[in-house]
Amino acid sequence: MSDVLTIEQRHRNMAAIHSASTKPELQLRSSLWHRGFRYRVNDKRLPGRPDIVLPKYRTVIFVHGCFWHGHKGCPISHIPETNTDFWLGKISRNQERDQEVWRKLEAKGWSVVIVWECQLKKANLDDTVARVSAEIVRNGEAYRAAQEERRKAREEYRQERKARKEREQSLLDEVKSL
Ligand SMILES: [Zn+2]
Repeated sequence: MSDVLTIEQRHRNMAAIHSASTKPELQLRSSLWHRGFRYRVNDKRLPGRPDIVLPKYRTVIFVHGCFWHGHKGCPISHIPETNTDFWLGKISRNQERDQEVWRKLEAKGWSVVIVWECQLKKANLDDTVARVSAEIVRNGEAYRAAQEERRKAREEYRQERKARKEREQSLLDEVKSL
């Protein structure tokens, strides 16, 4: 791909492509909806404002533009041959930000699923939806298992405290009866 566009022009193009790429995102959303998944979109309360948030499964989905987020080995993410440093710098900053966002979300117990725009092309959509659905379900199961673990740990702690209080009380009673 020869780069005949100026940085300015490419910026405008990419911005347009970026907002137009809500179309594949919409397709993903409606496919997930039809499969029974319920979600919020663009949740500002979460780091990185994820595109799709599935609270029940403690999972967020980002739909990433292949060029902007540097999809490895993907033809769409081809770096222009002019102003190469500029684009590389920009993309690598985006990737750093992405990683920072994932870290924050994972620290809060969220599972992060990345879907690349090329994976939402018509020919790939069904496979992608199947993969993402399976991942969401797995995350949901892991989340519920972790919750159950925590519930058990709390219950054990409560039992332990109760037993200790009872032991203390019976010691006190013993002392009093002396
Ligand atoms: Zn791609």
